[in-house]
Amino acid sequence: MPKCELCELREYTQRYCQFVHPFKFSILDCDSCDTPMAVLGEHRVAPSDEERAFMIEALSLVARKKYGEDRFIIDGVMRQIPDHCHIHARPIVRFGA
Ligand SMILES: [Zn+2]
Ligand SMILES: [Zn+2]
Repeated sequence: MPKCELCELREYTQRYCQFVHPFKFSILDCDSCDTPMAVLGEHRVAPSDEERAFMIEALSLVARKKYGEDRFIIDGVMRQIPDHCHIHARPIVRFGA
């Protein structure tokens, strides 16, 4: 049973990939921020260190392609849905760039 918005991810934003192994998670554009985010495939607050590292690695690949090397930050703060693990990649805004 879906428990939150992130459990029932719909296909209305750009989706980059969906992992099933070694664990389930998806990378897609966040509906509200319009930046790529990794969403754990289970309704859990915290991933294991290993899961977290893997999600960040995959998310970084997507973010590097979209924003460029070192032009983004990994943001693990869960503002809107605090009880389902998700990690954003946000572009770094530079003045005069
Ligand atoms: Zn959820
Ligand atoms: Zn967002």
